[in-house]
Amino acid sequence: MAPQLIDPFARAVTYLRVSVTDRCDFRCVYCMSEDMTFLPRRDLLTLEELDRMCSTFIDLGVEKLRITGGEPLVRKGIMTFFNAMTRHLDSGALKELTLTTNGSQLTRFAPQLYAAGLRRVNVSLDTLDQAKFARVTRWGRLPQVLRGIDAARAAGLRVKINAVALQGFNEDELFSLTEWCAREDMDLTWIEVMPMGDMGETDRIGQYWPLSDVRTQLATRYTVTELDHRTGGPARYVRLQETGQQIGFITPLSHNFCETCNRVRLTCTGELYLCLGQEDMADLRAPLRDHPATDAPLIEAIHNAVGLKPQGHDFDYSRQQPDGQMSRHMSHTGG
Ligand code: SAM
Ligand code: SF4
Repeated sequence: MAPQLIDPFARAVTYLRVSVTDRCDFRCVYCMSEDMTFLPRRDLLTLEELDRMCSTFIDLGVEKLRITGGEPLVRKGIMTFFNAMTRHLDSGALKELTLTTNGSQLTRFAPQLYAAGLRRVNVSLDTLDQAKFARVTRWGRLPQVLRGIDAARAAGLRVKINAVALQGFNEDELFSLTEWCAREDMDLTWIEVMPMGDMGETDRIGQYWPLSDVRTQLATRYTVTELDHRTGGPARYVRLQETGQQIGFITPLSHNFCETCNRVRLTCTGELYLCLGQEDMADLRAPLRDHPATDAPLIEAIHNAVGLKPQGHDFDYSRQQPDGQMSRHMSHTGG
């Protein structure tokens, strides 16, 4: 199907990231405060509404769906939604259905996710040290996540590890994390910490660690080859010749990745964010809820929203706040 969602800068929107809940069983210090207030249930899109919303985007040419949160696997009944999306994989309209998770629930869900048609999952993990893991996630326990990763791989899912680079926290694990991923045949992507939500406590646990430095340090031990392929997202990739591993770098602060951006983000309340680093959004819940019998108003709202997709973000020279800091949490927009 030809993409139908073309923004004013001639970029086709073919990738939808969907946050299915703002709740989480962890409280990572760079993502949430410990006493988060969550949204009232009535504000959330129901599983049926999520199905209708995603199916409409797929009808409009979206080929890749990434489910995120909060922690998507703590959303009650979430497998009903994944199972509903299988029909779009079967029809060929959807090329990939995937998930970003903290891994805590994978022992339970991995086989069902594979059966629903998922083939790859991203698991977020910043450290292999149990005490540090408990500190950074506050409520998370490392062995549970490691068991989840094992379960995912046993079910046939390919696992990619996402690690947030935090100076003074996991700098000393650059090589141990790299070697662990190489041994387990998992790709690894480093994410620069972004100024989202209330970052107060982050200062105490770790700070912005530029990925240019991660790369320089990798090059002291490995032969690092730049890879051409881009995903339309903020990641760049290199290959480590000695291990064959692919290492990704997501650098929203130090690189502008906007020119090839193919994605939009839907929150669990039905707001469509056109750009991770801008406040512009469109409410899609009203056109969906107010018109149960027809999708026409929703389709019009989606077209209108994509017509407003900004050229790029400006974390560095924001018009919102002096340092470009965003007021909303990552768990709201979905990472
Ligand atoms: N709970 C799931 C997880 O942790 O993978 C999915 C949602 S989480 C918001 C998605 C990703 O965003 C995670 O990889 C997390 O590390 C990342 N993230 C959260 N807050 C961030 C921040 N302030 N800067 C950079 N990455 C962040
Ligand atoms: Fe939860 Fe993911 Fe945010 Fe951590 S990063 S608090 S696991 S949503």
